[in-house]
Formats: sequence, structure tokens, C-alpha cells
Amino acid sequence: MRLIVAVDGPGGAGKSTVSRLLARRLGAAHLDTGAFYRAATLAVLEAGADPEDEASVLEAIDGRTIDQVDGRTLLDGRDVSKEIRSEEVTGAVSTVSAHPELRRRLVEAQRQWVRRAGDRAVVEGRDIGTVVFPDADLKVFLDADPAVRAARRSGEIGSAVSEGKAALDRRDRLDSTRPTSPLRPAPDAVVIDTTHLGIDEVVDHITGLLTQA
Ligand code: C5P
Repeated sequence: MRLIVAVDGPGGAGKSTVSRLLARRLGAAHLDTGAFYRAATLAVLEAGADPEDEASVLEAIDGRTIDQVDGRTLLDGRDVSKEIRSEEVTGAVSTVSAHPELRRRLVEAQRQWVRRAGDRAVVEGRDIGTVVFPDADLKVFLDADPAVRAARRSGEIGSAVSEGKAALDRRDRLDSTRPTSPLRPAPDAVVIDTTHLGIDEVVDHITGLLTQA
């Protein structure tokens, strides 16, 4: 049966861990759309293209395929899961993600991915409830105090993204103010402040919302 849960929010709000656990609990697939934008950014940087210039960005990603298999991110079949978390990619991803035509292509790839997963997925990102799946069965928007989000990010050093508060603030600002698909809760999203909540509490809360729906 179709079940699409949209999980949006800024960096460090807990989207990835919550979405992964929630997907496992629901027996659904988990799609990290941020990884798509990161893989596109890696392709742009590898090509030596200018992240600000949409034409060069599109040329750099033309004919390249981005996929996610078993939680790994593949660029033309190459496992780039680690590379896409580098400081260079993290620093450029919000600039690359602002281009409307790039977004159109990645949104299409994300929808196809979910279709292949049998329309049963927890999809995390910035515009899932507003643009990618406006008809999702449940939309949640995870948020948290900026200092707590930055602290969570720095706790990830050595594994996933490590990012200082200034860099995270900058990315949030770019993501929230871009004209195309800015980061914001869908009008029908349930906003959850995770500042004082543990991962399991958030997952329990979302599971509870699903049984009420
Ligand atoms: O979730 P993550 O921090 O990996 O996302 C990296 C970047 O990708 C975000 O800062 C944003 O610029 C972009 N992004 C987006 N739309 C999404 C997911 C991520 O623009 N649905």
C-alpha cells in the first residue's frame, strides 16, 4: 500500500537519523534527497564548473546518473557516499541547489526512485512536502534551536558532515531565501521541535501521527 512520509527541515534537526529509523520501523525505503544535491555538486566540482552559473552546472551533470542503493550514494555507479560529505561539497551545495532546472531534473529522479520502491518511502529533504510529494500521506518538519543543530553537526565530525555554526547558518539562509523551492514547512506539515527530544521520542511521535492519520 502506498505510504509516503515527507521529512523536511534544516541541517542538524535530526532528519537523517529519524528518517532512517522511521523507514526501518515502517518497512519502507528511505530516500535522502540531500545526497542527490550533494552528488550533483560533486560532479560540478569535479568538472571544474562554476557552481554559480546554471549553464555550466547543467553541462557538468548532463548524462551523469545519481542513485541511492542500500543507503549508499552512487554517481555513475561509483560509490561517492564519503566524498559528498566533504567540506568542499558542503560549502557549494546550497549554491548548486538553487538552480531551478537542476532542481527540476533531480526532483524527477527522486520521484522515479520512490516509484521504483513501490511508493513506500520516507523521503527527507527541504522541499519534499512542498514540491516533490505535495500529496504525501504525512508531512513532518523537524526543527531545533540553531545552537543545538550546530552542536549536533560538530558531533558528527569524522563520520558524516562536520560543519561549524557559521557554515550551517549560511547554508540555512541560502536554502530558505532562494526563489525556487525554498526551505519552509508545507502548510499541512506537522512541525516538531527536536531541541529537547531524543531520536526515539521523535520516531515514536511520528509513528503515532501515522496511526491517527
Ligand atoms: O540534507 P543535506 O544537509 O545533506 O542537504 C544538503 C543541501 O542540499 C541542502 O543544504 C540544500 O541546499 C540541498 N537540498 C535541497 N533540497 C532537498 C534536499 C537538500 O535543496 N530536498
